[in-house]
Amino acid sequence: MKALLVGVGQAGGKLTTALSEFDAGMGFGAVRDALAVNTAAADLEPLPLDTVLIGQSRVNGHGVGGDNELGAEVMDEDSIEVLDALAPRMTAEIEAVVVVAGLGGGTGSGGAPVLVRELSRVYDVPVYALGVLPGRDEGALYQVNAGRSLKTLVREADATILLDNDAWRSAGESVGGGYAAINESMAKRVGLLLAAGEATQGVGESVVDTSEVINTLRAGGMAAVGYASSPAAEDPGENVNTVTSAVRSAVMTGLSLPNATDADAGLVAVAGDPNRISRKGAEKARKWLQEETGSMQVRGGDFPLDSDRLAAVVLLAGVERSSRVEEFLERARQAVRDEPEAKPDPAMAFQNDELDDLM
Ligand code: GDP
Repeated sequence: MKALLVGVGQAGGKLTTALSEFDAGMGFGAVRDALAVNTAAADLEPLPLDTVLIGQSRVNGHGVGGDNELGAEVMDEDSIEVLDALAPRMTAEIEAVVVVAGLGGGTGSGGAPVLVRELSRVYDVPVYALGVLPGRDEGALYQVNAGRSLKTLVREADATILLDNDAWRSAGESVGGGYAAINESMAKRVGLLLAAGEATQGVGESVVDTSEVINTLRAGGMAAVGYASSPAAEDPGENVNTVTSAVRSAVMTGLSLPNATDADAGLVAVAGDPNRISRKGAEKARKWLQEETGSMQVRGGDFPLDSDRLAAVVLLAGVERSSRVEEFLERARQAVRDEPEAKPDPAMAFQNDELDDLM
């Protein structure tokens, strides 16, 4: 899928960078171009991407803090600047736009849904969101922000691929300390998914096509991506279990949104040397995924790659009924319930008072 990436906010910019670098490093060329947008000049500074600073008249390059309503307003006011910067990059070859953001902050959380809406108005290609959910130890504000942002993204985007900051956290490690590793894991999954339909080498009937990725995402709502790999034998006959267990691991332990296995549609791409891919293994894995997700709509195919390993890239779409999503939404709702009552207006203390106002 030839994609144009737009990172909004700090996490959005960093993840977009990681994705662009992964794609370039693998020589895929699925990421055709990328742009980073922020209200904070300091967060754009270190990025090796073209950038657009928005909201200067409001926040003077200092960011919106955790205020995602302000993030949404600023994007609403300045979206034309972002659209102008994207226009020359939206060439005829672009098959999708992916708006990338951390959902728990301010600029990305508020700005991404507004930008997705504007892009959908202007362009006919699908507009996907790639959203980072805050880990469970992040504060209440992050949970509330992410809950509201997600609700709006699901309405506006063709599909929202979710990455959970808790997904690859090793025990005892803080989320912040592990960002680089988390971003790499996320970039690999999404980067492989985008590249899966781009394979040109060894094209055969069984090769995954971009339209299959797009059709899987047509289930809409929320989606998750899984990945796992293992060494493979040269003889495909010996790789039946290699393929099935890679697919199983991609779903059971390698998913960007853990336990999101209740899905409306799925896609399994078996990546590796086509001569090593076991047809029987791929077919068995696809059947297993149908049972596991409860969806009859599971597509499958090869993703030819020059490697002596075999890997599975699994896309699950329509995962909003999953326990992980429910868990997160409950966290967000609880944080809203726990919000302190608005402080009464101090002026109320002087109601019907004999004291006159001074001015
Ligand atoms: P913004 O700049 O106002 O959009 O705010 P951030 O992008 O910093 O959003 C904060 C949320 O993103 C929190 O949930 C953070 O845990 C998460 N976050 C910040 N930086 C990164 C990153 O590099 N990678 C990942 N995966 N999450 C991040």
